[in-house]
Amino acid sequence: MVNRRQFVCAAAALVRVPDVLAAAVKYDLIVKGGRIIDPSRKIDAIRDVAIANGRIAAIGANIAGNAAATGVETIDAGGKLVVPGLIDIHTHAARVNEGPALCLADGVTGWIDAGSQGADRIGETIAVAKSAPQQCRVLINIGRAGILPEGDTMDLSRADVAAARDAIGKNRDMIAGVKARLSRDVAGANDFEVLRRAQEVASSFHLPVMIHMGQTVSPLPKLLALLKPGDIVTHMFAPPPNSIIDDSGHILPEVIAARRRGVRFDLGNGRTGHLRWDIAESVLKAGFLPDTLSTDWTPEGRAAQVIDFPNVMSKFLMLGMSLDQVVACATVNASAVFPVFRNRGTLKVGAPADVAVLELREGTFEFVDNYGNKRTGRQRLFPSATVLAGKRVATRA
Ligand SMILES: [Zn+2]
Repeated sequence: MVNRRQFVCAAAALVRVPDVLAAAVKYDLIVKGGRIIDPSRKIDAIRDVAIANGRIAAIGANIAGNAAATGVETIDAGGKLVVPGLIDIHTHAARVNEGPALCLADGVTGWIDAGSQGADRIGETIAVAKSAPQQCRVLINIGRAGILPEGDTMDLSRADVAAARDAIGKNRDMIAGVKARLSRDVAGANDFEVLRRAQEVASSFHLPVMIHMGQTVSPLPKLLALLKPGDIVTHMFAPPPNSIIDDSGHILPEVIAARRRGVRFDLGNGRTGHLRWDIAESVLKAGFLPDTLSTDWTPEGRAAQVIDFPNVMSKFLMLGMSLDQVVACATVNASAVFPVFRNRGTLKVGAPADVAVLELREGTFEFVDNYGNKRTGRQRLFPSATVLAGKRVATRA
């Protein structure tokens, strides 16, 4: 672990910008005076971020002062946090036309739609993704009819390998993986076979599978055995049956082994059955931190429980993760999961200028898990300003 002092020292060494250079370069936008937290560079320091031609051009102290005379647009981030644009690897942003813009206003500059649609109507989510302002991709639900109230693959014939392969073959540019939803109310006793088929499809295109775990019929170890490096387990804090942790507070050995071979573990906040405080607490206490935080965003979630990605991140501050850890889970760690986010989740010079300005407010904030249990936190992150590809965009009102 890098402590706070090392962060600051690393920052000072990395980012000094000679005054003469700062004055000479024409910047398009400067995010001024914020506390930069960029886990990818181990930076935690008050700095300005200068942007030119849609990319991070410089990070340093008082760039704004040197550029003041040139009339460059500035965002005053004094008293706020400046982090890489947030990357949310489990959303349903492509379910509705306005999804991408709503997420962008919350600081989300990259997202994955995790299986809203299957082969039959994948064109609908792809159309939304293609018209989105951010970097984004969709996962295809192995259930060809997508998410169904009666369960995506309760009828096993819906887990149609040929149909999924055909859809991916025609949309290689936009389909980034395969989603298998495995809870007993989604796949029933078909869970293992559904995942086997999802893996058959994904492997043939060298794509990852994301499984929706929790309350499955099959024991979790049996399902994890089918996962390959780079695959993702979402809803990692789901309560029993078939949690990642046993009754005595030990992470299952098969879960630890899966992480060791490169399987990733993701939050997937959502609204039903995925997050219970006591489980999250036990898992974190056992030292098994999430690789990524994600919202499982839907229009309904925007009104209750999920609200926005910064709110979801705040829950893990309440549960004891550090600000650096929480930001890493929503930026650099998330960028590593899908190739579309390569070179994002960072504020390094030369990277695309996707930036989230967040406000960390102190006070009394109530958070609720998926089971109606309330907890009070002392801090909450709020979206304040978002920069996408070097341009300031509208923020949630
Ligand atoms: Zn979901």
